[in-house]
Amino acid sequence: MHVVPSICTFCGVGCGLGVRVEDDRVVGVEPQPGHPISQGQLCSKGWATSFAIDPVNRLTSPLIKECGSFRRASWDEALTRISDEFHMALDELGPSGVGIISCARATNEDNYAAQKFARAVLGTHNIDHCARICHSLSVAGLLCTLGSGAMSNSIADIDQADLILIIGADVTENHAMIGARILRAQARGATVIVVDPRKTRLARLADIHLQLRLGSNIALFNGLLQIILANGWENQAFLATRCETIEPLRRHLARLTPEQTCASTGISIAELLQVAYLYSHANAAFTAYGMGITQFQSGTNNVVAVSNLVLACGQIGRPGTGINPLRGQNNVQGACDMGCLPNVYPGYQDANDRSVQEKFAAAWAAPIPQQPGLTSLGMSRAALHGQLRALMIMGEEPVLTDPDQHQVSKALQALDFLVVVELTLTETARLADVVLPAAAFAEKDGTFTNCERRVQRVRQAIAPPGEARCDWQILGALARRMGYAGMNWANAEALFDEMSALTPIFSAMSYAALDGHAGLQWPCDAAHPHGSPVLHEHSFPRGRARLLPVTQVAPDECPDAEYPFAFTTHRLHFHYGGGSMTRKSPLLERETPEALLFMHPADGAALSLHDQQAVRVRSRRGWLETRVHLTDDVPPGTLAMPYHFREAPCNLLTNSAQDPNSKMPELKACAVAVEPLPTGVLPRMPEAILLEGNHHAGL
Ligand code: SF4
Repeated sequence: MHVVPSICTFCGVGCGLGVRVEDDRVVGVEPQPGHPISQGQLCSKGWATSFAIDPVNRLTSPLIKECGSFRRASWDEALTRISDEFHMALDELGPSGVGIISCARATNEDNYAAQKFARAVLGTHNIDHCARICHSLSVAGLLCTLGSGAMSNSIADIDQADLILIIGADVTENHAMIGARILRAQARGATVIVVDPRKTRLARLADIHLQLRLGSNIALFNGLLQIILANGWENQAFLATRCETIEPLRRHLARLTPEQTCASTGISIAELLQVAYLYSHANAAFTAYGMGITQFQSGTNNVVAVSNLVLACGQIGRPGTGINPLRGQNNVQGACDMGCLPNVYPGYQDANDRSVQEKFAAAWAAPIPQQPGLTSLGMSRAALHGQLRALMIMGEEPVLTDPDQHQVSKALQALDFLVVVELTLTETARLADVVLPAAAFAEKDGTFTNCERRVQRVRQAIAPPGEARCDWQILGALARRMGYAGMNWANAEALFDEMSALTPIFSAMSYAALDGHAGLQWPCDAAHPHGSPVLHEHSFPRGRARLLPVTQVAPDECPDAEYPFAFTTHRLHFHYGGGSMTRKSPLLERETPEALLFMHPADGAALSLHDQQAVRVRSRRGWLETRVHLTDDVPPGTLAMPYHFREAPCNLLTNSAQDPNSKMPELKACAVAVEPLPTGVLPRMPEAILLEGNHHAGL
């Protein structure tokens, strides 16, 4: 047996692991000793990594659908079919009629290739990925206030903080190694404050839990800042030297009172005063947030409200401080960094900037698209209206993870042609015309970028199963088939070198430099050859930071007589995403084998429900059946459900109302009704897209 150093493929923490290989098979994983983030530990999901790439159920050859059933095909036949279909769509509708959804689980190299294929081969900016439904508005909001949308500090900064503020993030479950670090910081004396409508595990352990009303984030942060300003607790030196004027925000907040904030959020005035005092007087406050504030139609403004608080108290630009969006997937930071967004090239170089366009046109020897691109949800909408004909989805599962799944499914079925690149035959892949087998992380070389901007190497430990290939190899072969020769890289390192040469924030990075430093945090350039653990120490990318007045906006859909419960979604410690990887682990599946509807016992009593009773949950968009779990994890009137389970896909219920800036759908709040099913009746799978997808698939 030998051990190949690599990085965990689940969440954005980026823990170091070793892949144990015997006879060209992965037989397990082990923690990487001395790794700067995981420090020789892994969480339950990390330990189960080997199940995620188990050869059982893996796709091993291209598949082409004929008469509703898939049959095996050669690479040559599959590539010819895809090339022909893309050419047909381009002939009919031009570059706006085709698109690519890249993958936040794939490597930076795969994602660079995806956006280059979209722009240089298809001639379109229709390139997006799942950051759209997690942190696209962190990019939008923080770009507006600071000039940079990434985590400003490092995970290790938690060790230097004397106050840790966690907002809308269930860190012990979803970013377990960060959760553990926070608990260690609390044990050495740091104050932990959690803002969350649910009583998460960390909220129960925290010094203070602000259990705000679902969707009242802006009201809370405005209210805290109003108290700080009214008492003169703001950091005046920081505001004077590092920020544009705070006066418009001060005037905006002057109208507020703590009583109003208490009424809007449900948080007592005493708690508001206590948190405002502690946060503004902390020597170093580490502020982190998750999708509990981003997945709202007011998501960008939620982020701006947090940014206002951080800036007014000067809790940024020093070790132990900062504003830190916790990215969900292992490489969602990297997929954004690589330019898999419609409006930016790699390294957030503006797609509308003439000099950037000229640089990429010259380097890629291809004309650069001029028309603005569509987001992933924009592409779904265009497909429904016949304006998008051909789409490639790489390793993403929108059928389970996007809101309003009936619409997502309809959109995918409305396409003339769908190609999916995947490890297994997922629900989305079942809807495809062609499915291509992809290599998993342990079967290829490349890099992942974790939530603290650290680019780390993954290494090929075993051969891909059957004829599976790396995404960048698939895209390179398809580009050649379509007549473009500029994606002919010899290996992943050559591709990385092309990317870093064109991307200023990566310009001093190479595989050798990454190996020498256990990864490097961007910006990593001539001025920062060893990377940048802390951003904004002396100035912000936009010069002075901006504090912007923002106003509370209620969720698009609030409870009413017909749909009396507020509904939100969350994740579980033992599962990840759509469950396609973690549900292959018998150990993880044993812990949480099914979806449950979390309901407060008082609501259960009002509906005469007993724990584990089967119920039907309805929203304006669909229904599902599941079992109810009575718990005070949720407040009365609010229900919550995890989204890992295809048997009870809770995004059938969620609302696709969007944040106007980032197009983020409001996944975290909608209204539902609950009906008990008669005793003895088991929950069944909804007659939804999933079943339609299943009978299309002949395998
Ligand atoms: Fe993997 Fe995240 Fe767990 Fe670390 S915390 S082992 S990266 S799932």
